Amino acid sequence: MKIGKSLFFLAISASFAPTIASAAADNNPVAAQALNQMPAHAQALRMSARDAFVVKDVILDTNGASHVRMDRLYAGLPVIGGDLVMHMSASGAFANASTTMTSSLSLATKPKASSGSAIRAANAAFAGITSGQPSSVLSVYTRNGVTALAYDVLVRGTAASGRPSETHVIVDANTLAVLDKFDDIKTTAAAGTGNSLTSGVVPLTTDQTGATTFVLRDPTRGNHYINDLAGRRSGNGTTYTDSDNLWGNSSTSNSQTAAVDAMYGQNTTWDFYQSLGRNGINGTGGAGYSRVHYSRNYVNAYWSDSCFCMTYGDGDGATYLPLVALDVAGHEMTHGVTSTSAGLVYSGQSGGLNESMSDIMGTMVEFRGTKGNNLPNYLIGERIYTANNNVPTPTTALRYMFKPSLDGASPDCYTSTIGNLDVHFSSGVSNHFFYLLSEGAVSPSGFSLSPASLVCNGNTALTAIGRDAASRILYRALTVYWTSSTNYSQARAGTLSAAADLYGTSSTQYNAVAAAWSAVSVN
Ligand SMILES: [Zn+2]
Repeated sequence: MKIGKSLFFLAISASFAPTIASAAADNNPVAAQALNQMPAHAQALRMSARDAFVVKDVILDTNGASHVRMDRLYAGLPVIGGDLVMHMSASGAFANASTTMTSSLSLATKPKASSGSAIRAANAAFAGITSGQPSSVLSVYTRNGVTALAYDVLVRGTAASGRPSETHVIVDANTLAVLDKFDDIKTTAAAGTGNSLTSGVVPLTTDQTGATTFVLRDPTRGNHYINDLAGRRSGNGTTYTDSDNLWGNSSTSNSQTAAVDAMYGQNTTWDFYQSLGRNGINGTGGAGYSRVHYSRNYVNAYWSDSCFCMTYGDGDGATYLPLVALDVAGHEMTHGVTSTSAGLVYSGQSGGLNESMSDIMGTMVEFRGTKGNNLPNYLIGERIYTANNNVPTPTTALRYMFKPSLDGASPDCYTSTIGNLDVHFSSGVSNHFFYLLSEGAVSPSGFSLSPASLVCNGNTALTAIGRDAASRILYRALTVYWTSSTNYSQARAGTLSAAADLYGTSSTQYNAVAAAWSAVSVN
């Protein structure tokens, strides 16, 4: 049980007889009990006659034991490294203390160097760009075997890494040597809330860099972040920040809204790949980053291997929304997975397979992350249509995995000339395979397609193994068996090898993979 973290009271112990100095302390009998016992345990507490203590925290265990945390003053100066915790048993008796000090303090407290010279030394030691005039507090420093009278100089600015920084530079008050440096701004994961455009209200993990400063960057998922291009077509824009960790308003009227969707898509994609055993998008913990509000009225989104980043357009403001839907985010990031695994060349049959992997895994991300009325399905990009937003079962989309020809350009079945098509059309055969493998020859809701019209070879008795098994097989094929020039026939062989590894050659899944490829004429 924790009973608060405020500063309770200041007790001066010049005579080894601490007294309770504030009304708040009267209300905290545990802290008072600890203070009363301090003189009897001066050695364990490394107390000197010039020490005083400020109680910071009291923790009560359920068994009655207590722990009182205190900061130390020496001759009225704060002692950096002088903090301690007094541990008391259930009876209230002193048990022991935690402190890193090995002996009590004994030093002169009149500095030979001025505060101004210490500030100059601290500025010189700060790696980055300072802003404003640093402040300085005369202190006692006792850490890591060094004890000295020192100036604690707080330098604010931007660190060399580009992050905001509030660095304490500890400067020896006699010699001006820099004794230590530490930053008050730490990477702190904070729980934020986003009002998205296409996924309702979503949780976000952000980076808290100040009391009221939150950055749209997720320290728990590879530090991926969202930048605002604000209509520009070049540069990296600026990373979104916010004061209350509530982001967006579910409408394009707020610039943060599209960023919320991009962030949520990135989170969901990261988590999806983690569920497959992949560490980040690049396989080694890297996530890339996203840029939203690219150009004006841009109806597309794209992945770039060179920046390992995603870029989202805003749509045309009429027919198309910003292109930040879940399956689009999953699609783009999967290009990053493919580029760091099989490396499928983006032309011919390998290009079609590359696009198809992005559609398949983008769909998996959509199934994983969907919230609100935008139900998941095997359509691609359906949520970029303004008219489809919050419609549970839309029927217009960029692509249709269960019947690719519904887009007017993609073939349903493999032919030897398929590699001549644009990669967004030659992808259809593999998308079709994935649908049949996951769901069988069954018309999705919103459509009334006969089983025979869903297959190329008349075999409508396909076994549906479900999306999870199907995606595991595809992921293993992509990362273990396929290479940069894999074609459709080789893709079939790779997925069979993957299914054999995961489920065995006599498994339902193995046989279903073979039957689903045959059903799209890949033999
Ligand atoms: Zn793509």
